[in-house]
Amino acid sequence: MDGKKLMETALELGFADAALIRTDELVFIPAFRALCEENECGKYGVNYACPPDCGTVEEMKQKVLRWRQALVMQTMWDIEDPLDNEQIKPAKTEHNRLTRRLIEKAAEPGLMIGASGCSLCSPCAITEGAPCRFPGLRYSCMSAYCIFVKDMADRCGMDYECAPGITTFFSMYCFDERTPELSEDR
Ligand code: SF4
Repeated sequence: MDGKKLMETALELGFADAALIRTDELVFIPAFRALCEENECGKYGVNYACPPDCGTVEEMKQKVLRWRQALVMQTMWDIEDPLDNEQIKPAKTEHNRLTRRLIEKAAEPGLMIGASGCSLCSPCAITEGAPCRFPGLRYSCMSAYCIFVKDMADRCGMDYECAPGITTFFSMYCFDERTPELSEDR
């Protein structure tokens, strides 16, 4: 599926907006890792897809740069208190479900970056000292990759903060794998 078709499919699935970006346009800010350490989402250290277990900032960046392009997907939600995890969780779950649907339809290798850390199991197997139950499906969030989401939204022509009372979530499907030679050139 080419980029145009991916964008069309995302809109058909119900995303508010979708855009393509080259992964080498993304800005990675290592200092964002400190925000994960504050653990406001409650997943730090208790999820294979979240820091510190997901990998270093540089390792996460290289996972993204393995792919040339990314489809950025946006949803918008009317949430009374966007800082309340209980209120935003269902919206993020639905956003991630739609992202997975998009990737299923694309039916090509790629990397999913979610609107939140992996929530395929509850609790994550890491808390039981067991291996990840779905290593091929697990996904990390934008924060775990230290992606500067506002900059990404600006480059995609998307509103990061659209309107009072409206909360936006973003996810990504990275695709179009680089050849090993090109990856080594980076
Ligand atoms: S798939 Fe399950 S075990 Fe693996 S990271 Fe996600 S929640 Fe944890």
